[in-house]
This record gives sequence, structure tokens and C-alpha cells, in this order.
Amino acid sequence: MKSREIRLASRPKGVPVAKNFILTPTELPPLQDQQVLVRNLFMSVDPYMRGRMNEAKSYVPPFGLGQVLDGGAVGEVVESRAREFKPGDAVTSSFGWRECFVASPPELHPVSRGIQPLSVYLGALGMTGMTAWAGLDLARLQAGDTVYISGAAGAVGNVAGQLARLHGCRVIGSAGSAEKVKFLREECGFDGAFNYRDGPVLEQLNRAAPDGVDVYFDNVGGEALEAALSALRLNGRIIACGGISGYNEEKPRPGPANLFNITTKRLTMRGLIVSDWLSRRDEFEKEVGGYFGSGQLKNKETVVEGIDHAVGAFIGLFRGQNVGKMVVKLT
Ligand code: NDP
Repeated sequence: MKSREIRLASRPKGVPVAKNFILTPTELPPLQDQQVLVRNLFMSVDPYMRGRMNEAKSYVPPFGLGQVLDGGAVGEVVESRAREFKPGDAVTSSFGWRECFVASPPELHPVSRGIQPLSVYLGALGMTGMTAWAGLDLARLQAGDTVYISGAAGAVGNVAGQLARLHGCRVIGSAGSAEKVKFLREECGFDGAFNYRDGPVLEQLNRAAPDGVDVYFDNVGGEALEAALSALRLNGRIIACGGISGYNEEKPRPGPANLFNITTKRLTMRGLIVSDWLSRRDEFEKEVGGYFGSGQLKNKETVVEGIDHAVGAFIGLFRGQNVGKMVVKLT
């Protein structure tokens, strides 16, 4: 079986460029007992992958130079020599960035074809949706809380906002274009939204939430975090989910000048890594799958077609080219 895969050709310096990657043809070995051949239908590109392209160790190991990348994917079983799977079954895996692959059953997670499009398992019902759900759980969200979300029109942000609304919260989001602000207000039901490029974040946040905020869901870091530290009320909570504004910086930027607000306002800041929540995946799928199935939660996505455009889709994340989850359709 022939396939194609994307390998890391060189480590990006600053914003990744196309020549950091190479698309390579490969030949898959014949199936052994207890192995399954899967053809990917959709693969995910995610901001966290940028960190893995650096040499330094983090909470996940760095990608190897010259090695195939990995990441979330949803595919269909083509051939199986394991009784757990049969041809046609839909599965998610971490074997993204390639057209086809061979895996063993524990490396595959079965999903229902009854829910369409299957790319939802990379978005609202996948890793990014689970990040939103876990972050709100960690924040001990209460009905009536005012929640500010940065990176709000992206995969994690828009789901976090929709879920917070379903919990009875007032939700404010920031994003990088007028189109995204409209999406947040009109499609996701945000109570307030602003374009962080239109002026200082703190001024816009203060206008949207004049009485302050109780919870800040941080996807961006930098100016958004500094603004939130000022806008948070006494005993406010911060969920430290991401810091995309710094992912391409070659030298770390200084932290927020007003960090001492954590002390004076008795704030709590909690770090979140979604993989720590895998033991609660069934609970997440049941709850958020229920909202999706009943039409209470939308799965917005930006779909790029073809593995030869996957690198462009990944780089596009840092240019704000996605509304909702960025996914690559492979067949
Ligand atoms: P998104 O779908 O939000 O895509 C990235 C978005 O970030 C872009 O569309 C862009 O939107 C915004 N962005 C890019 N560069 C900048 C910048 N310099 N300043 C401000 N905004 C920027 O990605 P995800 O939803 O998948 O991820 C959101 C965050 O959550 C990321 O920081 C990611 O690393 C983190 N994350 C953390 C996880 C965890 O376990 N802790 C798991 C999954 C994600 P715009 O047009 O608004 O600028």
C-alpha cells in the first residue's frame, strides 16, 4: 500500500515556513496479526505542534528531524487483522500528517459514523472541544460568572464560549478580525466580542465587561493576559490553556507587568494540559456529544483540502486564517 507523509525537514526559526517540511511517498508493510490498516479522512493541525518543532523538551517530546510528524486524525479502517475492527469502521488516532498507516487496536479509538461530518471528532467532539470542556471544569464555572476568552473564534475558544453560555454565564471573546467578531456574536451567542487589533485589549475589555470578569480562559497570553489580570474581580480564576502570541518568539518575552494582581486580588491561575483528562473522555463525549446532537452546540470548522496543503493550513493558524477548527480533508 502506497501512502504519503509529511516530515520535519528543519526546525523553524520564528514563524514556520514551507521549507521546514517535506512531503514524502512511503510504502506500508503488509499487515501482521493484530494490526489494522487505516486511511485518514481528516487530519488536524494545531498550535501546540509548533512547540514540538523546537529542539527543547516540553510536556511532549520534540518531533525528530527527518521524522514523520504526528497529531490528531480521523480515518476509516481499510483492512483489519484484529477482531476489534472491521473495514469501514471510523477511528481517531494520533497518526495524522499521513494518508494511510498501520496501527494496533489500542492505538485506535472507535467513533460513530452516525455523527457527521467525521471531522467533528477533531473539533467540538475531539481534542480541542475536550480542552474547552476541561478548562471550564477546572475554572469551577458558576452560572452568572462573566467569562473572558481570548483566541475566542478558534477551535478551543468558540467551544469554550458556547459551553460557558450553556452553563448560564455571560461570555466576552476577543479575536483578530471583524468577521470573527460577527461569528462570535451571531453564531456562538457571545454576549460581547471585540477585535483585539482595533485598539488596546484592556480598553475594549473594560467596555465589554464594565463590572470586571470572574474567569479568564487564556489561549493567547501576552497583552490579553495582562488585560485580564487588570479586569479580573476579587477571587477571579485564570485557566492557562495556551499562549499562541509567544509560540514563534525566538526569545521569551517578559511576563505581564501586573502579575502582582494575583496577590492583591487573590486570583487563581491553573495550568491545563488536555491529555491529563483522558480518563474522563467518556464523560466529555456524553455531555458535549449530547449538546452537539441536540443542536445546542455548533462545530465550526475551516476545511483545507489535500495533504499537499496541510503545511499551509498549519502555518495559517499563526496568521489567523481559520474560523473554528482548522482541519485538512485528505480524501
Ligand atoms: P485556534 O483554532 O485558536 O487557532 C489559532 C488562532 O490563534 C488563530 O486563528 C488566530 O486567531 C490566533 N492567533 C494566532 N497568532 C496570534 C497572536 N500572535 N496573537 C493573538 N492571537 C493569535 O487554535 P486552538 O483552538 O487549537 O488552540 C488555541 C490555544 O489553546 C492555543 O494557544 C493552543 O496552544 C492551546 N491549546 C492548549 C491545549 C492544552 O491542553 N493546554 C490543548 C489545545 C490547544 P485570531 O484571528 O483571533 O488572531
